[in-house]
Amino acid sequence: MNAWQISRPQVNELLAALLKRFPVFAPVPRGSQFVFGLITKPEEAVLDYDTTILPPRKFLLPPREKLFNYPIAGDEELVTALPEQTPRVVCGVHSYDLHGLDVLRRIFAGSELPDPYFAAHDARTFWIGIDHTDDDYKFTRDMRTNSLECTYDLFLINDNDGFILLAERHGLELLQGFEKALPSLTAEETIDKLHEREAFYRKSPLKLTASLEEWPAIFPAVQESAVWQQEAEKCFSCGSCNTTCPTCYCFDIRDLPAIGLSGGERQRIWDSCMLEVFARVATGENFRGEAHQRLKHRFNRKIWYHRDRYARAACIGCGRCSRACKAEINIINVLNRLKEEYNDACSISAAAK
Ligand code: SF4
Ligand code: SF4
Repeated sequence: MNAWQISRPQVNELLAALLKRFPVFAPVPRGSQFVFGLITKPEEAVLDYDTTILPPRKFLLPPREKLFNYPIAGDEELVTALPEQTPRVVCGVHSYDLHGLDVLRRIFAGSELPDPYFAAHDARTFWIGIDHTDDDYKFTRDMRTNSLECTYDLFLINDNDGFILLAERHGLELLQGFEKALPSLTAEETIDKLHEREAFYRKSPLKLTASLEEWPAIFPAVQESAVWQQEAEKCFSCGSCNTTCPTCYCFDIRDLPAIGLSGGERQRIWDSCMLEVFARVATGENFRGEAHQRLKHRFNRKIWYHRDRYARAACIGCGRCSRACKAEINIINVLNRLKEEYNDACSISAAAK
């Protein structure tokens, strides 16, 4: 791993150099919150933001995407619409969001069902990560997504008033010699800085009462818990928790016939398992017609099912679902309530023996 010291003004110089070569996206204000937006000058990027409204998955799985044009009559062939190949840079991505992108890569870029649209977006995107600070919503230490065991090209580690710049993957290609003006770190110095970083994040309080390893045992035991019904009584089934989640990926397919019915366009658009219609089928049955069924399903997907299949939880502890929920359904509280019920059930069964 290559590492250099870089000051805040030098980060702006780096952004200015990148802006001459690529479209650059970075956190920018949207009201009192932040979004990943296209910047035209380095000063527009807010690098000490708390979190963005939408996660960076929008770069690899756009909210609405054309898949292909289809003919209605005649023997014309389908015309696929793979995304444009222009390279781009997304700067200022927190480590938990980089982990979220890795969760999506296991699904969309794995050997089971590789998705050419996702792959094309991913191949043209360079990622520049940056350190974050925890807040009341995030639980990244519990989900171990403070770690740098995630995919990035460059990463900015907080270091006094400036940063340590790490390069992996295509990092040197992005820097294109910019690093020659920066003081470089030896391998030992780099390891020391990484240890300092780990020690910093170990100071964040753990917020969940169960560890990652315990959830696969807890979840099967709490499927009939009253917690699902009690929490779901507050739920508006608005789907905001899905829309803002870095690892939600369900989509709907829509066909848009052209005027004159000469052909049409097929699109995929984000869907949400918290919406009442999500599991309704053409014959009218709804497999998850009640809000508590949908809430339980979402939690099962985030904490349990994905781990069984892909060996890691799908939740990366960003807290966006809790932040977005107008009903104040907080994922940390729900998980801790489930753990409490599990503990009670275990004590009763131990006492009965
Ligand atoms: S954001 Fe809250 S209210 Fe809306 S669907 Fe999700 S849990 Fe329900
Ligand atoms: S379930 Fe909530 S906390 Fe977990 S990754 Fe999704 S939005 Fe973030």
